[in-house]
Amino acid sequence: MSKASTADIIVIGGGVVGCSTAYDLARQGAKNVVLLERKAICGGGTAKSCAIVRTHYSIESNLVHAVESLKIFSHFDEVVGGEAGWRRTGYLIVGSETHREPMEAVFRTQNAHGIDTAVLTPAEAHEFHPLLQFDDVAVIGYDSQAGYADPYLTTTAYARRAKELGVDVRTHTAVTNITLNGQTKTVATSQGVWEAPVVVMAAGPWTHNLGQMIGVEFPYVVSRHKVITLQIERPYALDWPVVKDLTTPDKIYFRPETGGMVLVGTGDHGDPIEYPDSLKDAVDDAHIERIADLIANRMPAFADAQCTAGWTGPYDITPDWNPIVGPVPGYEGLFVAVGFSGHGFKLAPTIGEGLASVVLGREARVSITPYRMERFAAGEALHGAYGIGSIS
Ligand SMILES: Cc1cc2nc3c(=O)[nH]c(=O)nc-3n(C[C@H](O)[C@H](O)[C@H](O)COP(=O)(O)OP(=O)(O)OC[C@H]3O[C@@H](n4cnc5c(N)ncnc54)[C@H](O)[C@@H]3O)c2cc1C
Repeated sequence: MSKASTADIIVIGGGVVGCSTAYDLARQGAKNVVLLERKAICGGGTAKSCAIVRTHYSIESNLVHAVESLKIFSHFDEVVGGEAGWRRTGYLIVGSETHREPMEAVFRTQNAHGIDTAVLTPAEAHEFHPLLQFDDVAVIGYDSQAGYADPYLTTTAYARRAKELGVDVRTHTAVTNITLNGQTKTVATSQGVWEAPVVVMAAGPWTHNLGQMIGVEFPYVVSRHKVITLQIERPYALDWPVVKDLTTPDKIYFRPETGGMVLVGTGDHGDPIEYPDSLKDAVDDAHIERIADLIANRMPAFADAQCTAGWTGPYDITPDWNPIVGPVPGYEGLFVAVGFSGHGFKLAPTIGEGLASVVLGREARVSITPYRMERFAAGEALHGAYGIGSIS
């Protein structure tokens, strides 16, 4: 039997969260860090992401992480190094009268954290986005800072920078078992065995499998989320804002996509799936028709739009729709980052940074304590003003 390779820290998962954590471990001075990814970098849920980066959150810790991460996205080359595909568009959020109060409360917190916001009249909103109609809308909010990035460019840039800083990035290396022998964690993979005192599990929707290996159940479920792109003759401008439509049952959101298209996703619970690997990419016609109708209501010019593409991706959803990040209670040297509930892309830069700090025994610049796993048992779940859903 060949001897196990050794590391100081093993990170499992090469999505945006695992890669930003590995990068930040190295940036903060950790040596002998290994990242294990069963496929290629960005081979999981991150590849399906709409990658919208907005700071409109009613839960303050989410808002602060989003604000601080947005600063990193918008100066990615200077701060991290490389290309994240960042495009600032601004963010329009529309709602009914019941949404006015929570929206204005979020605006006040955003303002306190340096994000300018405004409640707009329909005429003012048309200046930013000429195709929208607002007859059935009571309140229109706007912030100028939000935008979107490219999930593949961002994740591979983090992985590349991690490598440059000394992380041993192992792709096509699936973790098949983890055993705990006191201080030492033995991680069996499809490419050999590793041992380390510290393991960080960031395997997205597949983190359940890692939990089973050590007898820990992480509280999240997986659901299937559909994204489609629609096109009309007039090109959809790349600088039109990301739009969130709280008046729709699925809380749809849409943003420009290259090729003059609009990309539409949903912020609801989606269809539950037991095994993330069973996820099928195809989007059913009923979904396309329903979303196309909602878009045609918000943008009448889209009444005869063509659907040009569709795909599905997994959300890992915790009971309060917020991530679990930090030490695994009762297991020294084990850490987890899972359950991003549809908003992990925009939070990944400072979640990775904060988790790396905590792994190294330091205080995080942006606290990750609100995301501790024990919050559920302690009755300290994070509940947002908009109810459940990825807007919280
Ligand atoms: C359709 C869709 C749209 C979204 N839109 C947005 C958005 O607009 N804005 C936003 O902020 N968030 C969005 N999200 C959420 C966001 O993309 C995710 O929260 C985030 O990408 C999760 O990253 P991750 O690194 O935790 O997981 P993943 O990207 O899934 O990475 C986990 C990795 O672990 C690997 N892995 C699994 N098991 C093993 C194993 N045994 N051994 C080794 N490796 C393993 C997988 O192959 C995978 O690469 C969206 C998600 C989806 C699905």
